[in-house]
Amino acid sequence: MAADSPHARLAQITHSLHAYAKELQAGGVEGFPPAPSVTHPPSSTIPAGQDSPGSIADSRVEMVEYQSQQATDAPAPTTTFPASDAAASTAPAGEASLAAVNTLAELRTEIGDCQRCRLCERRNTIVFGVGNPDAEIMFIGEGPGYEEDKQGEPFVGRAGQLLTQIITKGMQMQRSDVYIANVVKCRPPENRNPEPDEIAACEPFLAKQLEIIRPKVIIALGKFAAQTLLKDATPITRLRGKWQSYHGIKLMPTLHPAYLLRNPKDKRLVWEDIKAVLREIGRL
Ligand code: SF4
Repeated sequence: MAADSPHARLAQITHSLHAYAKELQAGGVEGFPPAPSVTHPPSSTIPAGQDSPGSIADSRVEMVEYQSQQATDAPAPTTTFPASDAAASTAPAGEASLAAVNTLAELRTEIGDCQRCRLCERRNTIVFGVGNPDAEIMFIGEGPGYEEDKQGEPFVGRAGQLLTQIITKGMQMQRSDVYIANVVKCRPPENRNPEPDEIAACEPFLAKQLEIIRPKVIIALGKFAAQTLLKDATPITRLRGKWQSYHGIKLMPTLHPAYLLRNPKDKRLVWEDIKAVLREIGRL
């Protein structure tokens, strides 16, 4: 077999691939990662006898690129916390930057002019949260709507007015007695649902708010709040009304006030959930 024949070249490539696989094995790598899809020119444009060796060589380059990309593009875990100032606010942040935060004011400073997810692009205001920093009860909703984005305060639109009625008329408390926040701090455009990566980017801020306030009871309003905090994809209609736990804090999932505006007959279900909360904190 001539040294430069196609068969000889294929044998050389096979040999070097084999050696490469052994190197990887020695480095603790088990198996090849899947190669990303690559568009090759139609086989009719490749001279006969050149496509097989060429494809193998390309695959190896792709494989190495894929591995280095994996090392740098690994998704941040949900416990990754944001960077410490506005200038660095697009950089992935370590837990250390939030670990030093002890108050809500410090946390707001830490969030800065956050651009850690695409919801920053069309927001007017970061809607941080409002209420008593020593609240026994913390309401968590989904995200700001039009009015909230305009006013910079959670639950001030129509759904918010209903929540205020629940607090004042139902619970005989004031909004200033409780704390109210959302899973995402910026308004999703057209009030669409927040995407999983947006929730993941913003969740460390909510986790820190909960850690600082440490309420006796969390009331999770609607699917996104309940599912995000509980890491449980069970529908809210099945979660609601049953006590859960968030890092040792009692959590009551219930229906979102916006849902109640469309389904007022279900207000009685929410009232049952609220009564359970009031009993829990000794107010009923
Ligand atoms: S939603 Fe949260 S993570 Fe995204 S830009 Fe706003 S504050 Fe930052």
